[in-house]
Amino acid sequence: MNKQLLFVKRPTGVADATTWSLVDSPMPTLKEGEFLIKQHYVSLDPAMRGWMNDSKSYIEPMAIGSVMRAGAVGEIIEVNNNPNFKVGDFVSSYGGVQQYAVANGQGCYKVDPKLAPLPTYIGTLGMPGMTAYFGILEVGKIKAGDVVVVSGAAGAVGSIVGQIAKIKGCTVVGIAGGPEKCKYLLEELGFDAAIDYKNDNVRNRLKEECPKGLDVYFDNVGGEILDIALSRLKMRARIVICGAISQYNNKMAIKGPSNYLSLLVNRATMQGMVVFDWADRYGEAAAAMGTWLSEGKLKSKEAVFEGIENFPETFNRLFSGEKLGKLVLKVIED
Ligand code: NAP
Repeated sequence: MNKQLLFVKRPTGVADATTWSLVDSPMPTLKEGEFLIKQHYVSLDPAMRGWMNDSKSYIEPMAIGSVMRAGAVGEIIEVNNNPNFKVGDFVSSYGGVQQYAVANGQGCYKVDPKLAPLPTYIGTLGMPGMTAYFGILEVGKIKAGDVVVVSGAAGAVGSIVGQIAKIKGCTVVGIAGGPEKCKYLLEELGFDAAIDYKNDNVRNRLKEECPKGLDVYFDNVGGEILDIALSRLKMRARIVICGAISQYNNKMAIKGPSNYLSLLVNRATMQGMVVFDWADRYGEAAAAMGTWLSEGKLKSKEAVFEGIENFPETFNRLFSGEKLGKLVLKVIED
């Protein structure tokens, strides 16, 4: 049997156990050209909360009754006539929250577990890593000497953004929740400063850490922190709108930043991004980040939890912040 997590009810506010239903389904059969993936790990990403809403976005909302959409990484265990994939290959794909997924190769990337642990391929060497790489380099357009501030700094995207900015010679200030995460940013990732938004006065601390203002703000959280960052812009600053996790469980409409005229005064730009726009360049980012990982310049951390039945409470760790690094769920025994 194949354990699958079905999306059964659109949540209002925080998703809970009633949002999904765990079912045992018969093992799928393969059509010509298809293959079967045993999915070892699924990726838990804040964007999944947005996909549950019935509203226009960069991707279709999830249909009620469908397998919960998610990135995953696993091993091919059966192939029905596909010249490009063979049994024993490892692939990352959008296989969803289930133990076995059928694919035809579209949207599948081969990965090598000898080069990096499988969860890294849905973290630093997967979608969040690609987001960090193209977001900070192509949208943030950083250069040596820039002052870069990143929120959600201890998370999958933010931790890589800050480290890439350090590699490129920037001064990096991270904003994260709690002393443990701030210590991690300073002591393990080499950030120049860390602001604990749950305990510090962010406005005052940002003033202290960026006395002359900031060149780039990489926004993962939106809300009040975005507004505060807008008040510290240098001339021609760039704001990368990557995400707004503080708003994803809102029951009311998202409130925009009130400090937006700072963009006018400082001739600054604020640009949204969606990682999929760089899909044809993922190889380039993976090669660069693979090299930095092997040289020890880039550190990757994954928070791995276990059991497909634990998906609901694990998913909500994205919002409570009770995890360090990229959130991953192991959904089947090896
Ligand atoms: P993540 O940072 O690994 O996990 C989410 C983190 O957000 C939590 O650990 C928590 O850390 C923080 N958080 C939760 N609620 C918060 C709140 N109310 N205020 C401030 N911080 C809060 O997640 P990720 O995968 O790296 O994603 C980060 C952001 O990037 C999300 O907004 C996501 O939607 C976005 N994203 C965008 C793209 C794109 O293409 N545009 C692609 C991937 C991800 P603390 O303990 O520090 O609070």
